[in-house]
Amino acid sequence: MSDVIQLAYFAVAVVFILGLKAMSSPVSARKGIVWAGYAMVAATLITLLKPGMENYGLMITAIVLGGAVAWWSGKVVKMTDMPQMVAIYNGMGSGAAAAIAALEFARGSMHGGFAATLAVLGALIGSVAFSGSCIAFAKLQGIMTKAWRLPAQNVVNVALAGIALVLGGAIIFGSTPASEMVIAFFVVALALGAILTSPIGGADMPVVISLLNAFTGLAVGFEGYVLGNPALIVAGIVVGASGTLLTQLMAKAMNRPIKNIIFTPITGAAAGGGEAIGGSMKELSALDGASVMRYASKVIIVPGYGMAVAGAQHKVWEMAQLLEEGGVEVVFAIHPVAGRMPGHMNVLLAEAGVPYDKIFDLEEINADFPQADVALVIGANDVVNPVARTDKSSPIYGMPILNVDMAQNVIVVKRGQGAGYSGIENALFFKDNCRMLYGSAQQIIGEVITHVKALEV
Ligand code: NDP
Repeated sequence: MSDVIQLAYFAVAVVFILGLKAMSSPVSARKGIVWAGYAMVAATLITLLKPGMENYGLMITAIVLGGAVAWWSGKVVKMTDMPQMVAIYNGMGSGAAAAIAALEFARGSMHGGFAATLAVLGALIGSVAFSGSCIAFAKLQGIMTKAWRLPAQNVVNVALAGIALVLGGAIIFGSTPASEMVIAFFVVALALGAILTSPIGGADMPVVISLLNAFTGLAVGFEGYVLGNPALIVAGIVVGASGTLLTQLMAKAMNRPIKNIIFTPITGAAAGGGEAIGGSMKELSALDGASVMRYASKVIIVPGYGMAVAGAQHKVWEMAQLLEEGGVEVVFAIHPVAGRMPGHMNVLLAEAGVPYDKIFDLEEINADFPQADVALVIGANDVVNPVARTDKSSPIYGMPILNVDMAQNVIVVKRGQGAGYSGIENALFFKDNCRMLYGSAQQIIGEVITHVKALEV
């Protein structure tokens, strides 16, 4: 039986990896998610068959309850609320890893040696990721609106990490740990996660969620070793490795070293920084917007969070097709952190049916903006803010942006004077070649479509 179970775990691990590979392309991503989901169900069922299992009633109740909540929340969550859902589910994973370690400590089975060290490290990382994910959820959900930062924040962080490591060492190498010591260890580790994450906000949040995800993978992998469960080890390592790579890619895309994100985050106060911007915003009507684009040779569309909120992707693609029928070349430019999660815009455009060969990443398209007659910005803000290139005092200075300001004409669709996620003013809106097309994206693009249809060639 044991060999069959090990073989089944191996098969599950292979499917996890194949699923992850499939997720690397938008064409096969849905398939990859489904494969990984089936593999997870299989891993759970196989674990129930392991010899020596007890408490089936409790386990099945937990699986049914947890599965039902996850199924329901997955069905009802709005696409724009997905980051907070990822944050809270990430917290569940890391919390579970920390809870496994807590149980093993309570049993007194962890003492000295490699397994005990991994259990303590998993508990520490899992607890940090759990409380950090809860704070990230509260921030993204708008429950926690202020970024709070302690005086001497970094000293406190280092002190807490040091205390947690000392307590962890005592748990590993001491005689059977007193429950007070184990409780103190978890309290300090949880406080560390909360205090590390609390000041982080603004444009840094996507990187932090990805980093916490990598932490969770690591914690789960360590606890998988403690439990002797290969599927858990492989799943944890896969999540840890992919989370680490994603974190590095996003940090690079935002030109923010990971240590700066954690130790010198963009806070609410910093977001107010930056030089004053002169000039005024100039409005444009839907009819004029339609005319400028209808008679252009090349239009580059830059979608952002506002397009997601408005659910305007279908209308945007309808408009693009109309323009193409009239001989206009239309392509889409996607910034790596546009929207509220990695790949957010790619998913929406794919859902609307935009072919992949019309969608370009920042590095691929940035040099093309000067040749574009129109850059149409739909609900994007931070990712097209030129102060990131020019204003050293700006909190987003250094973040690569889409160079829409270099196009001949820029049209920005947004509802009013709302700032972007980082809360700072956008110099693009005040440029001479920029016009504001006010309205909610779906409704205003609908109006543009009506006008494009009515225009004579
Ligand atoms: P921003 O959040 O910078 O700006 C969105 C803009 O959309 C706002 O200025 C708002 O202006 C406008 N808007 C809102 N609703 C509508 C609507 N219904 N119709 C039209 N416009 C609308 O978005 P970006 O995509 O440019 O940038 C993403 C930001 O989010 C970055 O700072 C990034 O770091 C951060 N982030 C990214 C994550 C990721 O992984 N992608 C995750 C978490 C954060 P108005 O109110 O005037 O309409």
